[in-house]
Amino acid sequence: VTMMTREEIPTLDILRTWEYVGGELPLHVKPHGWTPARCPVHGGFSASINPAANKWYCFGCEARGDGLDLIMEVEGVSLAEARERATESGLVAGGDGGRRGLARKPREGRSRVSLKSRAEGRRRDQRR
Ligand SMILES: [Zn+2]
Repeated sequence: VTMMTREEIPTLDILRTWEYVGGELPLHVKPHGWTPARCPVHGGFSASINPAANKWYCFGCEARGDGLDLIMEVEGVSLAEARERATESGLVAGGDGGRRGLARKPREGRSRVSLKSRAEGRRRDQRR
């Protein structure tokens, strides 16, 4: 039994975690905002990924959360186990083994594109 709090838990790179659990990544993932994707939990095309926030959710099965939640949902493991697998597999964003993830991080400053993506994300949120 672990007594970990959420604060001690690393943020995972959501795109790498998505692949780790066997999820299909869309060809073009918006760096900011939400990109529709097939849900690795239930298989329907009703999930969305947000790499800037390292979050995901699914309308279909109402699963949602961060990378750790994704591992827990798909692999059916505890938080402690998910954290261990994520660390071993180098899924932690910005941490050891996270170097490949850094290259994928969206750059701030390309405001025209990112503002547009953010607007799309907001519209999507409003539709829910
Ligand atoms: Zn789902």
